[in-house]
Amino acid sequence: MTAWQLAKRGFDVTVFDQWNTPNDRGASAGESRIFRTIYKEGPDYVPVLKKSYDMWEELQANQATSVLQMCGGLMIGRPDTHDVEAVISCAEAADLDHRVLNSHDMAREYPQFRLDDDEVGVFDPASGVFRPEAAVLTARKEAERLGADFRTYTRILNIRPLSQHVMIDTHDGAQAFDKVVVSTGPWVNELTDFGPDIVAPRRLVAMWFPARDVPLHTPANMPISIRRHPEGGFSCFPVLDGLGVKILPHHLAWATLDQVEDLPRFVEADVVRSTEHAVARLMPGLDPTPFRVSTWTEGFTKDEAPIVGPSAQDPRIVLAVGMSGQGFKFSPMMGSIVTDMVENGSSTDAIGLMDAQRFDGGGS
Ligand SMILES: Cc1cc2nc3c(=O)[nH]c(=O)nc-3n(C[C@H](O)[C@H](O)[C@H](O)COP(=O)(O)OP(=O)(O)OC[C@H]3O[C@@H](n4cnc5c(N)ncnc54)[C@H](O)[C@@H]3O)c2cc1C
Repeated sequence: MTAWQLAKRGFDVTVFDQWNTPNDRGASAGESRIFRTIYKEGPDYVPVLKKSYDMWEELQANQATSVLQMCGGLMIGRPDTHDVEAVISCAEAADLDHRVLNSHDMAREYPQFRLDDDEVGVFDPASGVFRPEAAVLTARKEAERLGADFRTYTRILNIRPLSQHVMIDTHDGAQAFDKVVVSTGPWVNELTDFGPDIVAPRRLVAMWFPARDVPLHTPANMPISIRRHPEGGFSCFPVLDGLGVKILPHHLAWATLDQVEDLPRFVEADVVRSTEHAVARLMPGLDPTPFRVSTWTEGFTKDEAPIVGPSAQDPRIVLAVGMSGQGFKFSPMMGSIVTDMVENGSSTDAIGLMDAQRFDGGGS
């Protein structure tokens, strides 16, 4: 996304990726991602989310592949649950369209979800589901069309700011650049010196459960959702593969990894059983036996807000890391904000809570 934005504004762009772009190792893989506008993380994000939506529309205009399908979104839980309160308060603060559905409304309109009598669903019409690999590929093609050069399977070993240039070291040698953007996802600690107490890779697990009535569980009929319930919390993604709904459990710890390469492929039986239990209890149209269980990793900061801005080490190095499980939906705007920073040193779209220098002692 950053390469697309930089190339669009006329910069001469070189992208180094240790794998391909896209790939199945980083934080952007795994079939689906959620877009939401009513944001439980706070109304400060809403202007960036609205502008991101426009950029997604621009990216997919005239493309054969849809990257973002708007299907609406639900936050489901008791009205006094933190996240339910947070979305209602965000919708009111930012004056966003929404509906609060009680358990009877939900049973009638969205039978894919089983609610307790005292639960509600808060509907956000400006939500949808991404195909992230297609989105990354589309952005790459757009960047290449505008002149960007992708050096795939080329790992950056070191970034060295010198007086005239910033040097990039790879196994193929060193190359000098005027500016460098670091957007290394979960590998953040390899090319910055924040340290694992500030930002660290964590493991996320997703499981696909067969839908008994597949059409009922596709985006045409089923919104994306986030569930908060004493017996399970999860993100839920409608069927994209013709077979199953993806569930990403939140009520189980997201283990911190020392290194991204430590990501275990296999998942403890307790994690699967607990998610099966939540699905059996809360998703009546799914067979509570997952046919696929996969693991991914993402860089999380200690305050769970991204790190975006010029580094403390050298302002010619701009950081866009630590996306903390949120980054896909606003990634085009992160690219645009970073491009502003490369161009002018700052961005009027930047959000204070993402400030790259907010952590004492870290930030190169
Ligand atoms: C399972 C899961 C579910 C998620 N769900 C959502 C969601 O529903 N909605 C949402 O908005 N967000 C979600 N997120 C978060 C979002 O997907 C991420 O924040 C976003 O994709 C991060 O993108 P990135 O470009 O920062 O990182 P990545 O996609 O990981 O890209 C980093 C790239 O840097 C490359 N790289 C790293 N180090 C080097 C090096 N030394 N040299 C060369 N290349 C290097 C990697 O190969 C990789 O291609 C989720 C994340 C995960 C893991």
